[in-house]
Amino acid sequence: MLSPEIPSDEALRQQALDDNELLDTPADPYLDTLVRVVREVFAVKTVLVSLIDHDRQWFKARIGLEADATPRAISFCGHAILGTQALIVEDTHNDPRFNDNPLVLNNPNIRFYAGHPLFSAENQALGTLCLIDPQPQKLTAKQQSLFIDMAALVEGYLKLRNDSEQTVQLRAALSREQRKAMLDPLTQLWNRAGLNHFLPRHQQQADDLDLQLGVLFCDLDYFKKINDSHGHAAGDQVLWETARRISAAVRPQDVVTRSGGEEFVVLLQVHDQQELLQIAERIRSAMSNTPLDIDGLHIKLTISIGATLRTAQDAPNDALKRADQALYQAKGNGRNRVEFAN
Ligand code: GH3
Ligand code: MG
Ligand code: MG
Repeated sequence: MLSPEIPSDEALRQQALDDNELLDTPADPYLDTLVRVVREVFAVKTVLVSLIDHDRQWFKARIGLEADATPRAISFCGHAILGTQALIVEDTHNDPRFNDNPLVLNNPNIRFYAGHPLFSAENQALGTLCLIDPQPQKLTAKQQSLFIDMAALVEGYLKLRNDSEQTVQLRAALSREQRKAMLDPLTQLWNRAGLNHFLPRHQQQADDLDLQLGVLFCDLDYFKKINDSHGHAAGDQVLWETARRISAAVRPQDVVTRSGGEEFVVLLQVHDQQELLQIAERIRSAMSNTPLDIDGLHIKLTISIGATLRTAQDAPNDALKRADQALYQAKGNGRNRVEFAN
């Protein structure tokens, strides 16, 4: 096996990556959609937006792979960032650089790999868009040019994102180490510590903007049955997919957290109760309208939601408690519904 070389301008490359504030950030609905589309277009098992950090590759977006990171020393993408064009390995078994790589010999048993480097505004390779499959594959000339186009879309988006208001705010609010401790590796959403961090800040922002802080407490219905009948790994995939659907149903500035097991709390700045309930309804129907596709299995799943608006008299955790009580009502009233608590 050949470990990837370290680029000659590695310090500058790492600096560009760090400056982009992409590492250890929550999943992004746009990139999630993109990797989903790319997976369909190329009919491969796995698609990643991989970032090459000091000694690991960390996945900013992923579909078809459980791990959120793997060591750089055994990475394919570490090789791909050394060039300016796609690195394509049609069959790892015929390539001495990779044939005894642990990722080839063991899970995910990579046979096919195609990785296109993604460059920053400073022209540093931050990582790749990559396709992986456990079967050998060839890309036609047309597919190769489509792959270049897809990589251009990802690269362009990362550049736009780097200048966005949200990135600027995130940069100011949290250091990378803090972010790391607030990210749930399973769903790539903020965890409970993230919720505690963002709650007072979003309250303050809402006050400044003359808006109200809305809280949605979302809990999957009968989730335990999924674990019982399909296994814990399928349950984990359901949690991942639920996180994607909730994130896609809300607005970019809303904060989605996984507050515990199969519970998700969303913080939103809204004008009134009606606006809050509209978004809650979008989340509810995003879950119930289409069954989840978990490895070809179509699983029907619903979610119950408790909603509330924070008031000036509330102690810090009152709104969370009230939303939890509303959730309890939603469960009692038959599940797959939204209840509001005054
Ligand atoms: P209800 O409609 O009343 O909410 O029923 P429920 O089955 O969704 O709720 P319950 O609290 O009885 O069960 C939640 C289950 O979630 C139990 C626990 O094993 C499972 N769970 C919690 N965290 C995880 C996780 O990280 N992965 C998986 N696969 N399951 C988890
Ligand atoms: Mg539940
Ligand atoms: Mg629960």
